[in-house]
Amino acid sequence: MSGTGTLAVTTVHNWIGGKLEAGTSGRNGMLNNPATGEVIAEVEFASAADVDRAVATAKAAQHEWRSVPLSGRAEVLFKLRELIVQNRARIAETLTRENGKTNADALGEVARGLENVEFACGIPNLLKGGYTEQASRGVDVYQIRQPLGVVAGITPFNFPAMVPLWMLSNAIACGNAFVLKPSEKVPSASMLIAELAQQAGVPDGVLNIVNGDKEAVERLLDHPDVKAISFVGSTPVAKSIYEAGTKNGKRVQALGGAKNHMLVLPDADVAMAADAAVSAAYGAAGERCMAISAVVAVGSVAEPLVAAIRERLAKIKVGPGSEPGIEMGPLITREHRDRVAGHLDGAVAEGATLAVDGRKDPATGTNGFFLGPSLIDNVRPGMSCYDKEIFGPVLSVVRVNTYAEGVRMINENPYGNGTAIFTQNGGAARQFQFDVEVGMVGVNVPIPVPVSYYSFGGWKSSLFGDLHMYGPEGVQFYTRAKVVTSRWPDPGSSKVDLGFPQVR
Ligand code: NAD
Repeated sequence: MSGTGTLAVTTVHNWIGGKLEAGTSGRNGMLNNPATGEVIAEVEFASAADVDRAVATAKAAQHEWRSVPLSGRAEVLFKLRELIVQNRARIAETLTRENGKTNADALGEVARGLENVEFACGIPNLLKGGYTEQASRGVDVYQIRQPLGVVAGITPFNFPAMVPLWMLSNAIACGNAFVLKPSEKVPSASMLIAELAQQAGVPDGVLNIVNGDKEAVERLLDHPDVKAISFVGSTPVAKSIYEAGTKNGKRVQALGGAKNHMLVLPDADVAMAADAAVSAAYGAAGERCMAISAVVAVGSVAEPLVAAIRERLAKIKVGPGSEPGIEMGPLITREHRDRVAGHLDGAVAEGATLAVDGRKDPATGTNGFFLGPSLIDNVRPGMSCYDKEIFGPVLSVVRVNTYAEGVRMINENPYGNGTAIFTQNGGAARQFQFDVEVGMVGVNVPIPVPVSYYSFGGWKSSLFGDLHMYGPEGVQFYTRAKVVTSRWPDPGSSKVDLGFPQVR
C-alpha cells in the first residue's frame, strides 16, 4: 500500500514500527481481482532480515506496552472498535476486490472480526486472577497472567480481516507485541487494520506486518524472540508449522483444513435443511473452513433433500461480488478454480453422480475465476471428492441407512472442524452432541462458528495444539500463568526450618 490512508493500492509493503517499509527479498507476488482476472497490485515479499527488523521493533515496543494499565489498553481497543465500525465499508470493499467474496459477505466478515475486538475490550476483567487467603498459616497464594512478549500470526486467504482480528485483538490486549504475516494473496485488509490500529493509539511497533511467503514464515518459526505462533490455513502447512514451532520451544496453535458434514435425519424439515445446506455449502463460494462440504442423508430423506437442493442451486446468482444482487463470487485463483472443477470429472470417474455441473453456469466462461454451484450425489468415503478438502462450491451427498452409520463416518474422517445435525428430535440431537468427534457442533445451525466469548477450534487434523483460538482460550494462549505465594511474618517469629513447607 503506497502511502498511509489510501486505498489506491499499487505495491503492498511491510508495516514495521508504524511505517511502511519496502521488502528486501527482491521477490514479489501479484494480486488479482478474482472477479476479472486482472492484476490489481503487487506485494513485496519480506526477507528474513525484514522479519528480524519487525521482531526487534516489536520486542522494543512490547516492554512499554505491557506496562500500560489495563484500562489504558482497553481504551485503545474501544477506539479501534469505533474506527473499524466507521471504516467497515472500506475494509469490505478491499475484501471483495482481493478475495472475491460478495460485498454483503465481506461486511459479515468484518462484523465477526469486530466481535473479537469487542471481546478484548474486556481485558481488565479477562485478566482477573484467583486469590487464596490463608493457603497455609499466614500465607496467601495468587495467580497472575503475564504476556509472552513478541507473538506472531500467519493467516489464510479466505478471511483476510476476520482471522487477523481473531489473533491480534487478544494478543495486543494481553500486553504482547504482534507480528502478522497475512496471506500473500490478500494482504490489503490487514494493512488497513494496521493503519486504524495506529489511529486508535496502538503504539508503533506493537502491531507489525510482514508480507510474503514461506521465507518470512520460516524466519518467524526460527526466531528466538518469537514466543508463540498462531496459524490458520491448510492442514499440511498447519502440521509442519506446529512441528517446527514446538521443536523451537514456541507455543503454537495451528488450525488446519476441514471436511464438515451435515447429518440430516429422516424427521428433519426438508425445506429448512435444504436452505441450510445450500447457504452453508455455497456461501463465499465454499471457501470457508466451516462450509458444509458433505451432506449425510439418512434413509428416506435423501431423495426429497437432493431435489430441494437442486431446485435452490438453479436460482443462485453467480458473478462479481461488487455487483448488487450477486450471491456467490469467484474463487481465489484460476489454478484453484481449475483444481476444484477437476473434482467434478474425478467424482464421475469414481462412480458418483454429477447432479449439478457448475461449469455450465454462464459466469464460468468469463475471465474471472468462477465456478457455478455444483452437486455430487452418491458419494462415498474413498472417493477423492470425499477424502480431499475441495474448498470450493461443490457439495457432496453421502447416503446412509442409519444415524449410527452417519456418525461413524463423521468420526472416522480425519478432519474434525465443524459439523451439524438437522432433526426435530431433541434426543437425537443430544445424542449427536455426545457422540460426535468434532470441535464445533451445530444443532439445526449449519455454520456453528462460536461467538467471540467462546473459543474456535476443531479436533483431529483440523487443529494442532492444545488451545483453541480467540475467546477465553485465546487469552490463555497469549499469556502465561505465574503463581505467587506470599507471607508477611513478624520477623521475630523467624527461624531456620529445613522441612518441606506444609500447608496444615
Ligand atoms: P495455506 O495453508 O496455503 O496458507 C496459509 C498461510 O500459510 C498463508 O499465510 C501462506 O502464505 C502460508 N504458507 C503457505 N504455504 C506455506 C509453507 N509451505 N510454509 C510456510 N508458510 C506457508 O492456506 P490458504 O490456501 O491460504 O487457506 C485455505 C485453507 O485454510 C483451507 O485449508 C481452509 O480450510 C483453511 N482454513 C482453516 C480455518 C480454521 O479455522 N480451521 C480457517 C480458515 C481457513
